[in-house]
Amino acid sequence: MCGIVGYIGDKQAQPILLNALSKLEYRGYDSCGIAIANKSIEVFKDAVRVKALARTLESHEGRIGIGHTRWATHGEPSKINAHPHCDCSGKIAVVHNGTINNFARLREQLTAEGHTLASETDTEVIPHLIEKYYDGDFEKAVEKAVGDLEGAYTMIALMVGEPRLIAARKDSPLIIGVGDRENFFASDVPALLDYTSRVIYLEDGDIAVVTASDVKVRQNGKVIDREVHKITWSMEDAQKGGYEHFMLKEIHEQPRVIRDTLTEYISAEEPAADLAGAGAGSLENMVILACGTSYHAGLVGKSIIEDLVNVPVRVEHADEFSLSGRSLAGHQAIVITQSGETLDVLKAIKRLKANGNRVIAVTNVVGSSVTRASDKTLYTRAGPEICVAATKTFIGQLIALYWLALPYAGVDAARLDELVMELRQLPVKVQQILDNEAEIAALAKKLAAFDNVFYVGKGINYPVALEGALKLKEISYIHAEGYAAGELKHGPFALLGEKTPVVAVVTQDNTYEPIITSIKEIKARRSPVFALTNEDDNVMPDLADYVITVPRVDPLFSPVVNIVVLQLLAYFVAKERGCPIDFPRNLAKTVTVE
Ligand code: GLU
Repeated sequence: MCGIVGYIGDKQAQPILLNALSKLEYRGYDSCGIAIANKSIEVFKDAVRVKALARTLESHEGRIGIGHTRWATHGEPSKINAHPHCDCSGKIAVVHNGTINNFARLREQLTAEGHTLASETDTEVIPHLIEKYYDGDFEKAVEKAVGDLEGAYTMIALMVGEPRLIAARKDSPLIIGVGDRENFFASDVPALLDYTSRVIYLEDGDIAVVTASDVKVRQNGKVIDREVHKITWSMEDAQKGGYEHFMLKEIHEQPRVIRDTLTEYISAEEPAADLAGAGAGSLENMVILACGTSYHAGLVGKSIIEDLVNVPVRVEHADEFSLSGRSLAGHQAIVITQSGETLDVLKAIKRLKANGNRVIAVTNVVGSSVTRASDKTLYTRAGPEICVAATKTFIGQLIALYWLALPYAGVDAARLDELVMELRQLPVKVQQILDNEAEIAALAKKLAAFDNVFYVGKGINYPVALEGALKLKEISYIHAEGYAAGELKHGPFALLGEKTPVVAVVTQDNTYEPIITSIKEIKARRSPVFALTNEDDNVMPDLADYVITVPRVDPLFSPVVNIVVLQLLAYFVAKERGCPIDFPRNLAKTVTVE
């Protein structure tokens, strides 16, 4: 969601800003722009892709600049609403990520004081506030302006004649790239990997003043030392590697992700996280909070923990949880977020911490905001995920959840060994599915002809149906709904018929018999059925219209193999329909707004 970049150094800013912005495209955006300071500020922006903007630009001199990819929240995507935004004098420019809750009041005040604001954005109040407070000290003016803002306001400001960039971080990510005679700002690491591998992660409330040779970070007025981290992955990891789309590459990386995430924990002597850490009672009061695909991982996590540990688990959408009015004390909370920057999750963590709860985070991004806000972090070792629709990070989350629950499993040592062995074999099983992708692609051609699809599953595979449906709608724009198989008859049956196929997860476990009954009922309503079954199933081939087989695994681990089929199915359907698979319309990778 939105990207911001900044450059100050001994090179020309324009090509660096445009290149860095192109590396943030994966976050999702609708318009973009850059500002370059020289004797004056020149702003170039439009509601176009970064490449298109770059094509229209001649080269403009300037060794200080800022850039932005916008994901509109206040005002439609348009040239005038695109960032950077300037003050009345045109000497100050700002890029901003987030939403300013009190912008209407600030705008009214500024207008009454004689400022003319040109766009519909909340952002534009920032350069005008800096202008209002500027009395010769740029740093003070930015600080005062920030003091007036409520909401989420990660931003970078530049000013003509000032050899520095000033940034503030609040509720969305911002890093500083440390170079030689040059420094950078960016929302995320891939933007900077062409230039430096040394980064500083800013924290909420930080104000950073950066020159070509110096970095100064202040928090509550005090200068503080923020650690410089060395990034160990390369740009290579964030490129397509011969695949047509990032999504297909990332689906194919899943055997490696399972291995890497397992390796992270398998050799450790201690449990991955001390689940009972907040006192024995808390194990009985477990809550998982997440959004989107991570929420579906949370629902699988509920089944895993309830099956293995035999304690009840609640799973809630992080955003809904923040609204609830009930008492929150005495919980053991697990939060799941791919990016570690999801604002809805961060807000939930703040509430949990304020009520004295212990929070375990599952995330893919080292040093991200949730890791700092939580008591303990379990990392998924998926590597950078570029496609907006999550695939390999979902698998990584599942593996982390298995590993979280296993040390507390109420099973004997032999069964535990068996489960660990099964886990170790999952990469091979997933690879078998990947090797079979041509068959899934052929079925996808048939599914692509429909405009409405139901996905059904039961038990631990109910969230797999939800996630399969989400993948299809995200990237193919087909209307899809996931249901617990037994629920379909309580209403959605009204929509069944020849034009509404049902994708059913029917692998072998204790839900097999009832789901067969559900499928018979569905077939009686003439819906075409696409079934996921195990190879040795001899009922479904006669019952379903189309069958995709998956290798048999312990039912506890079946979501790991089943979801891979549904990811590939969604991918090939979207490809058949000619959709922009990696960057679907209206979606953003890292959701840093409410
Ligand atoms: N709220 C700002 C706008 O609508 C910034 C959105 C963003 O984070 O891209 O322009």
